[in-house]
Amino acid sequence: MTNPKAVASLLQISPFISLLLLAIFAYPILSTKSLQAFDFLQQLDGWHKGQKVESVHELKQYLRKFGYLDVCYNHTKHEHNNEFDDDLESGIKSYQLNYHLKATGKLDAQTVKQMRMPRCGVPDIVNGKTSMRSGKKKHTNGGNSSSLHSVSLYSFFQGSPRWPDSKSYLTYQFSSTVPVTDLKTLKTVSKRAFARWAEVSHFKFSEATDEAADIVIGFYSGDHGDGSSFDGPGGTLAHSFSPTDGRLHFDAEENWSTNPKQDMMDIETVAVHEIGHLLGLEHSSEPKAIMYPIILFGSQKRKLHGDDVQAVIMLMDPALMVPLGCLLILFHQQMEGFISMQKRIGVLIQGRHDGPRNS
Ligand SMILES: [Zn+2]
Ligand SMILES: [Zn+2]
Repeated sequence: MTNPKAVASLLQISPFISLLLLAIFAYPILSTKSLQAFDFLQQLDGWHKGQKVESVHELKQYLRKFGYLDVCYNHTKHEHNNEFDDDLESGIKSYQLNYHLKATGKLDAQTVKQMRMPRCGVPDIVNGKTSMRSGKKKHTNGGNSSSLHSVSLYSFFQGSPRWPDSKSYLTYQFSSTVPVTDLKTLKTVSKRAFARWAEVSHFKFSEATDEAADIVIGFYSGDHGDGSSFDGPGGTLAHSFSPTDGRLHFDAEENWSTNPKQDMMDIETVAVHEIGHLLGLEHSSEPKAIMYPIILFGSQKRKLHGDDVQAVIMLMDPALMVPLGCLLILFHQQMEGFISMQKRIGVLIQGRHDGPRNS
């Protein structure tokens, strides 16, 4: 027979048992890494032209978003079917060139791995005309070449939009629809990120004291009305607009941090990258450059690379490009010394951009 005392005792402790069981069985579910925006790509490993496979239409949308398929492709039936066609193969080849992969046009494991990495939401190619490595004539043969180390890999937005000479002093402010990090931290991070660019260019930055700021920084989620929706955790992390738009948007659904652990994204790294776009720089194929589109979780890359410095110099004054470009090649491994030299050259440039002005 059942002992009444034992039953009463079991009922008393049952809430604790329930909690214990819940903790044991729920742990694997809670600890499973959440789905990332680009996870659909893992199903495509090994596929190539001529095949028909589910998820290829998602790949087409991915490649169009980042400029690897013509904008017109969106208006045809092709983007919505699962045919692995010529255009798709060509887009994949361009992607492979830009990211130093073997340009086969096939979805090999390395290409899929690269495509799944979190990245900036700004396209690598705009209207099919400006690009990173794939757009430079020297690089049309594909594959890896040691000679590439001596070639600049940055690029500009189509038409090279830039702030007018009278607008070297830029102000910024903050405006978010989704609060993520505290404003004090965001201000500190942004100040440091702007300083990276200020020390190698004629630009100066300060927080706006009124509503009329040149740059507006904020956190947004999903479709936020600018034609470039965010996609939740992973995938695209942020985007910003070319001069003189001034908008810089972070995806509020990322796990942002100022001291990132394995699954966290360093907000300062992303801020330095996005400010480069605000100044007029596009993506670079140089993996060590700030303007490289891929930014890994748990990593920090807050300092400018020689490729970034060369790009912003070119943006300021193309006449300085040749001598400084040559110096960069020679002193590529000695950035600190180069930046010091750049500051001295900046004094000369400063003569033309003398202090804060209003446009
Ligand atoms: Zn970017
Ligand atoms: Zn946006």
